[in-house]
Amino acid sequence: GQPLVFDFSYESNMSRREIENTVSQLLEVEGWNRRAIDPFHLHFCNLQPDGPYHQELIKRYSAEVWDRLLVTNTERHYVELFPKEQLVYLTADSPNVLHSFDHSKIYIIGALVDRSIQPGLSLANAKRLKLATARLPLDEFLHWETGAKNLTLDQMIRIMLSIKMTGKWEEALTFVPERKHDGLHQQQTKPLRTNTTTRGFTN
Ligand code: SAM
Repeated sequence: GQPLVFDFSYESNMSRREIENTVSQLLEVEGWNRRAIDPFHLHFCNLQPDGPYHQELIKRYSAEVWDRLLVTNTERHYVELFPKEQLVYLTADSPNVLHSFDHSKIYIIGALVDRSIQPGLSLANAKRLKLATARLPLDEFLHWETGAKNLTLDQMIRIMLSIKMTGKWEEALTFVPERKHDGLHQQQTKPLRTNTTTRGFTN
């Protein structure tokens, strides 16, 4: 299957509580992926042996189950495992929009939650590594009520599994919780708001 990378390089930016929270989301990620018709080959990269993430993962799964999961977990960096030009770091802070899903790319998701985390953390990381970046086309498809466009890891995997299967953002973005937005542009019956007039569907 197509690789999908989770980047575990943010251990030092996270409290114990945030690491527990991230791991809870990752259990869901693995579950959604395992049940998918066309799953990704998940790669948990930069995972420090016996570090806080690793300990929490083993605690939650039991060592046996953890070893049998269809997840490649490695302390190695994804830039050592994959050609740089194939990598695309997904981050809400990217200036670039992910217009269409590319089956030949390897997308990277930051293994972090968004509590006390600084905005732009994963963008800064991707820039330092000189990697391509992209954000999901949330503004292009959804009417936003609130400012925060950072999604959780379980939402991210469901969106990515769906866009991989269907190629349709209208379907994939149904996994964005509705409290965050006010419906798809397409379903809008009232006049469009001034700032969302011209950008519509791309396929
Ligand atoms: N402030 C954090 C940061 O610096 O990225 C937000 C982390 S977000 C909760 C967890 C991960 O999900 C991000 O690192 C990113 O890979 C992915 N993500 C969340 N929302 C996204 C969006 N709208 N577009 C692209 N990637 C997103």
